[in-house]
Amino acid sequence: MSFCNLTGKVALVTGGSRGIGKAIAKELRNAGAEVIISGTNVDALKETAAEIGARYIAADLSDSAQVDRLAQEAGAVDILVNNAGITRDGLFIRQSDDAWNDVLRVNLDAAVRLTRALLPAMSKKNWGRIINISSIVAHMGNVGQTNYITSKAAITGFTKGLAKEIARKGVTVNCVAPGFIHTDMTSSLPEKMVEKFKEAIAAQTFGEPEHVAASVRFLASDEAAYITGATMHVNGGMYM
Ligand code: NAP
Repeated sequence: MSFCNLTGKVALVTGGSRGIGKAIAKELRNAGAEVIISGTNVDALKETAAEIGARYIAADLSDSAQVDRLAQEAGAVDILVNNAGITRDGLFIRQSDDAWNDVLRVNLDAAVRLTRALLPAMSKKNWGRIINISSIVAHMGNVGQTNYITSKAAITGFTKGLAKEIARKGVTVNCVAPGFIHTDMTSSLPEKMVEKFKEAIAAQTFGEPEHVAASVRFLASDEAAYITGATMHVNGGMYM
């Protein structure tokens, strides 16, 4: 069997309709997994699901009842990729409660709730993979993103705590921390800021969603069975 083959596994990728999540869904599908993607935009989900041969479930992760429904409809999942994420940027001093709560709800609470719902089936099988997409900014900080950084630092801590609890059941829990990647999330950054960030990246360029997806495929595989509680940095040498 080839390296990082995922035949026979079922993977759920949140935020799998576009950007990094879409690349992850494609990569896991190419590795032989059955893939379920989720998101809020049904047209985008339909299109991506048809393109890569995946199933889709529409669910708004800012609503805990919809998170529960997603877990129920997905059923027994072997690989959970908590990828969906949002930003509501602004200087902390002017940040509203809504901007804080919205980001924490989607980036942290939903991932935790989904993990709690899907973990028992993995534990029962003595095999599972939970991969949380965090961010470089949880490790190096950034201006205007205290809410986002808090959510990503918290998911990194959650990853370590759960990894310790569940390793004996054959379930690994890891983070992939992307640097600056070409997606909708970074497409609206002002050109001046993009140039400043590029100067700070050793590779001198933003990464592609596929760079992140390759790391997820590895962490999802049998070959990565002894890696848990770790963060894999995919950032072109911006932070090391
Ligand atoms: P993106 O292009 O903005 O895509 C976000 C995805 O999340 C979409 O599929 C979107 O689906 C889904 N989503 C957003 N809000 C949702 C909600 N309330 N309920 C369900 N799904 C929701 O983002 P991306 O750049 O690919 O980022 C993916 C992950 O990587 C995020 O966790 C992000 O924080 C992290 N990250 C990105 C970068 C970067 O440079 N791009 C860097 C570090 C970390 P719908 O549109 O259908 O709602």
